[in-house]
Amino acid sequence: MRTVLAGDLGGTKCRFALVAEDFTRHESAPVPTVRERAPFLGAFDQAIQGLLDTLPRGWQAPCAAGFGTAGVIPVGGASIHHAPNLPLDGYPLAEHVRQRFGLPAVLLNDGRASALGEYQRGAAAGADPLLCLFFGTGIGIGMVADGRPHAGADNAAGEIGHTIYRPSGRRCPCGGLGHFEAYCGGRAIVERAAEEVAPAAPSGAAWTVGAVAALARAPAEPGAAAAAAILSDAALAAAVLTANVCTLWNPRACVLGGGVLQGWPELAAQVAAFVAAETSVPIHSQLRFVPAMEGSAAILYGAAAATGALWHRAR
Ligand SMILES: [Zn+2]
Repeated sequence: MRTVLAGDLGGTKCRFALVAEDFTRHESAPVPTVRERAPFLGAFDQAIQGLLDTLPRGWQAPCAAGFGTAGVIPVGGASIHHAPNLPLDGYPLAEHVRQRFGLPAVLLNDGRASALGEYQRGAAAGADPLLCLFFGTGIGIGMVADGRPHAGADNAAGEIGHTIYRPSGRRCPCGGLGHFEAYCGGRAIVERAAEEVAPAAPSGAAWTVGAVAALARAPAEPGAAAAAAILSDAALAAAVLTANVCTLWNPRACVLGGGVLQGWPELAAQVAAFVAAETSVPIHSQLRFVPAMEGSAAILYGAAAATGALWHRAR
């Protein structure tokens, strides 16, 4: 059975898998992401070699490699121009993989990788165009059209979280003012809870989106109204963002995922209801909202698909 090597290079953990043409995955244990380049690359090489050394019976050795990661990746996918969470700024990682393991390699943005993975294997597999929105610490987006991730002229398309929701509004982690991410990104939600509810969650631990949502569901508790107001604001921002991008792009399906939804699952239905109410009939009448795949699966499948070695594109 043909296989490719796939990786999800995350800010806290890196995951690697061999992905077979029947979508079976042979995964190794996640590797903690370290901040210095030499030890990072040492752990990277070791994890890949470990997978190659434990090839399941009947599987061919991988013929290509794909890696999804946060960051700005120049056209061609050979390196990461700016890697916010990895010690790899400008490093030619694809050439590294070719030299060490003899595999042609491609890198792609994790939002695009996730979208391509959802298109191959998710709840809306094959829906085209496919829109994926990930409400995590920040807001990730991926779009697939004609079976391919839409990347834009310079691989920078789709940063809708950094478009303006409220001019001169809250400061976004990117430095801009009033961006959507400053209202419905997970970081913004927990920062607002610390500012407007209490310095820490009721448990005494740092705020999470789940803790804000739990407090908002308990109206008798102190701070519940403030927590509910923060979530109401965040839900409106997420819904407006989704309605805008659906109107712009007329997707057949929209995948909703990310850590904010894990802690606050009610958001998905609120977004879907807003889109149905506030967009035109051709936009929403056949639009399906579906949940994202669990964990790293979408990124791994998308990174595998991006190699072009396993699966034919739909069109
Ligand atoms: Zn921003």
